[in-house]
Amino acid sequence: MTVRRQPVLGILGGGQLARMLALAAAPLGVKTLVVDSATDACAGQVATLVVADWTDYAALEAFARQVDVVTFDFENVPAETAHWLAQRVAVFPAPRALAVAQDRLAEKTLFRECGLGTPDFMAIDTRADLDRALSTIGAPAILKTRRLGYDGKGQFRLRSLADADAAWVALGPQASAHGLILEAFVPFERELSVIAVRGRDGDFRTWPLTQNWHTDGVLSLSLAPAPDVGSLQERATHLARTLAEQLDYVGVFALELFVKGGELLGNEMAPRVHNSGHWTIEGALTSQFENHVRAVLGLPLGDTAARGLSAMFNWIGELPDAAPVLSAVDAHWHDYGKQPRLGRKVGHATVCAANAEQMVERLGGIAHALGRDQQVGPAVRELG
Ligand code: AMP
Repeated sequence: MTVRRQPVLGILGGGQLARMLALAAAPLGVKTLVVDSATDACAGQVATLVVADWTDYAALEAFARQVDVVTFDFENVPAETAHWLAQRVAVFPAPRALAVAQDRLAEKTLFRECGLGTPDFMAIDTRADLDRALSTIGAPAILKTRRLGYDGKGQFRLRSLADADAAWVALGPQASAHGLILEAFVPFERELSVIAVRGRDGDFRTWPLTQNWHTDGVLSLSLAPAPDVGSLQERATHLARTLAEQLDYVGVFALELFVKGGELLGNEMAPRVHNSGHWTIEGALTSQFENHVRAVLGLPLGDTAARGLSAMFNWIGELPDAAPVLSAVDAHWHDYGKQPRLGRKVGHATVCAANAEQMVERLGGIAHALGRDQQVGPAVRELG
């Protein structure tokens, strides 16, 4: 018999997304190697960890030789690192797609080209730009870094024009390095996301729309399939497909959307598996993690249909008591194996149910036992 060589997936970034990718890769017979500069990167508990910086080209050279394909758990990998690797090994999504999604200005410009409206926005490089943009866009508005922002970081909310000084003190120093963007604040009715996947052969699928609630810019709760979306599902799928084709995208990505006046507006695109798709592990026929692995390795994609209703809530800072989740029916506990730290995503739970009534009962019961009624309240109200 010939010796069988198992495929090896390389991941830049060794956080919880890499960890869940590695866990999904294993049943496919795929080995995972992750690169992270932290010796305690949590994906290292379930995959082989290479401790190296993004600019350690000797380590990256050795990494590239050991893997069949490279992907990301983190969108802010420097463009030079992605390009350098792409000259040596297959990299998906391609560095160009990563570069667009790394820059809020390029991303929103592309959204508009693809027919997806966005909040009004203007690029800001100087304090005078900010004054000009505020007089056009008005307040309330949000000043954001164009690059390197995530989970509400690198953002300043301006309630009125009088907040311009404070906004510039907070983010002005980053204007030259990362660029800034001023966006109109959207009084949205709902926040939705569509998780999509495109294979190397162009096969394209989306999971059902997810409804999301954020606290201080960080995802707190997701409900899927989002109730009563009507034609928004078809519209979101069409927009995600157009974007994916424009970027010749391969892999999973998330498109974060606001619903305002019944219309979709594009907030941002995450060029990777996404927190609002964690429910797919137990709640869909194929998870976002498995389909990402399949896509980047050129394997057939799996069915993205939902099994029923799912609600996912995040553990931020530290884990609560696991017992109320572990002892509930069809509830699933995820501990990322990270040390507690203020504002850090350390785990999540997903609760599955056959219908809205059952979900309200299960979710309500778990949240009550954990003293988290407030966190799940919006989903319970949406389903009620
Ligand atoms: P972001 O990092 O841009 O996804 O922002 C995090 C969260 O802040 C979003 O999911 C929204 O809840 C909120 N947010 C961001 N931009 C806007 C906006 N232009 N209008 C209203 N809310 C926003």
